[in-house]
Amino acid sequence: MNLMEYQGKELFKRCGIPVPRSQHCKTPDDVAAFIAKNPGKWVVKAQVLMGGRGKAGKIKFAATAEEGRTVAREIMATPMPPNRQNPSGEAVNSLLVEETVEIEKEAYCAITVDRASKRPSIIVTRFGGMDVEEVHEKHPESFTYHFVDTAIGYWPFIGRGLAFDAELDAGYRKQFPAIAAGIYDLFFRYGAKLVEINPLVLTKDGRVVAADAKIELDDDGLFRYPEFKEWQAVLPLDEDERLAAEAGLGIRNFRRFGGTVGTLANGAGLAMGTMDAVKNAGGEIANFLDVGGGADAQRVRNCYELVVNHTAAKVFFINIFGGITRGDEVAKGIVTAMKETTSRKIPLVIRLTGTNEEEGRRILAEAGMTPVQTMDEGAKRAVELAAGA
Ligand code: GDP
Ligand code: MN
Repeated sequence: MNLMEYQGKELFKRCGIPVPRSQHCKTPDDVAAFIAKNPGKWVVKAQVLMGGRGKAGKIKFAATAEEGRTVAREIMATPMPPNRQNPSGEAVNSLLVEETVEIEKEAYCAITVDRASKRPSIIVTRFGGMDVEEVHEKHPESFTYHFVDTAIGYWPFIGRGLAFDAELDAGYRKQFPAIAAGIYDLFFRYGAKLVEINPLVLTKDGRVVAADAKIELDDDGLFRYPEFKEWQAVLPLDEDERLAAEAGLGIRNFRRFGGTVGTLANGAGLAMGTMDAVKNAGGEIANFLDVGGGADAQRVRNCYELVVNHTAAKVFFINIFGGITRGDEVAKGIVTAMKETTSRKIPLVIRLTGTNEEEGRRILAEAGMTPVQTMDEGAKRAVELAAGA
């Protein structure tokens, strides 16, 4: 789950990372009312998951309540324009009103998992405030990494070393170790996959504050904090995620690709393998679909209808490897789903193996369906049917 800036900054506060004073607002009137009560120089920031708000004109300054209302209206009037992060853009549904900081320097600091060393990696560069991808193209040598040995953990000397090695402005040195401690703490406490501060601002009066917050949490750890459920409810879903949720699937279990071979498998790995097999057989994939464990009739029907009604699939390739999932249950699910569905019919290609395979095949055979033996055979058959259909 990716967090909005205001949600991320709430976690920053809990972990002792300094952030400017701010208020989350839902309407231009709320912005005006807040500034009227709290006179000062404020910056009004669109709350969206996409980056690049600065460039898109979705961050504006306001010194009075009326200015606040005007810029809030302007920001909310149009969605964030598409960019390489999100080709469909994103509506602006709320705003963060934040105390303006006087910027002396902007740096970049993040923590994420480095797969090669299998360790959390703290990443620092003195070039902040730009797209980090752009910094990586222009100043690759500026990136400084510390791969944390979790048996030792994070210590202030590590942060001091990073600040020196990354050649951060001297003004950062004293405060940086505590900020790196904050992101390290946040990373583990909240089960994050990425914590990014861009820019980490050195202010004209010598303070170091996180002006932006980007956090990606591990979905498997969300249960640890009940408030994450509420936070998730306000996050935007893209079209595929919305369809997945409506079908009772996890939001990451379904993705469309525009081809004519619909796929379903149990487990994300098998689902990807299934797509590879289809490609290998010369076909184009309509979708990725991980049905998860327990493919009962209702679930299979939902998935079938999802693919038939919302993709260009001309054939539906079902690839089940029974481990915990039992073949006979899946077979019953498929048979019942096909009986009950009122949607358009497309041919099924079924590969069913593993636990209770024999029983599963018998159930399918009784219903006039013949499963194929192997994944490649199934892929080949599905591609032929899609081409002929
Ligand atoms: P992003 O473009 O979506 O990553 O949004 P950021 O929150 O990172 O803001 C982009 C840029 O806007 C920053 O790098 C700053 O240069 C500028 N900015 C944001 N907040 C302030 C502020 O309070 N004062 C000033 N002077 N600039 C700001
Ligand atoms: Mn930013």
